[in-house]
Amino acid sequence: MTIPHPIPAHLAALCRAADDLLNGEHATTGISDAGQLLAQLVAAIRGDTTTALVKPYLSPVNGYHWLLRYWSPDVDETLAFHDPLAAIGRLARTARARWDRVAGLTTTGFTVPATPPENDLAASNLYFWHLADDAEGFWLERQPLDGQSVDDTQVTGERDDYVLGHVAGEWICVCGNDAADEGFDPCTRVGALLAVLDSWDGVLYRCVKCDRIVAQPTGQVVGRAE
Ligand SMILES: [Zn+2]
Repeated sequence: MTIPHPIPAHLAALCRAADDLLNGEHATTGISDAGQLLAQLVAAIRGDTTTALVKPYLSPVNGYHWLLRYWSPDVDETLAFHDPLAAIGRLARTARARWDRVAGLTTTGFTVPATPPENDLAASNLYFWHLADDAEGFWLERQPLDGQSVDDTQVTGERDDYVLGHVAGEWICVCGNDAADEGFDPCTRVGALLAVLDSWDGVLYRCVKCDRIVAQPTGQVVGRAE
């Protein structure tokens, strides 16, 4: 088996998790079982992208939880999740239940399918991307478990993992860009902007100002476009 070099980000995350596990600490990726970790590593090296943990940016982070606020004309609720994927699953359930509001809408050449995609991220992102008004929406925000609010626009003191701060529901990148400035556009894994959205994974956006590639809805930086 050949280990690729340089090590891709998802493999590096698994290696860090292995290191933590060997040192008796909680895995930063949320994996606390050695057998599970080994299976993930082998699958990742083999290039099996169906394995859940090839998206480390969607894994729980120790010391943090994710606050999901969802509002519509009928509901305004805020829920806390340890696992951001669980929050996204919740959003996807809402999106699927209300899919008729966006089915068939066309934006930038892409027509929303009649039925929601099976992928939770794609379902929630496609749905909320196409909602035309502010009467329904969500924000998903990483917060420390100690209750201190985190200002994600000031991340210079920690790893530059999460770029997006939220002010009144608006994204703000660490570079200062926001939706009213140059905005964020759907992109590919290498940051190429997409003219049509039919090949979009429903996850990745590029900050048009600083070219950071951001995975939504968690706002984690997963790369930078060349
Ligand atoms: Zn930026």
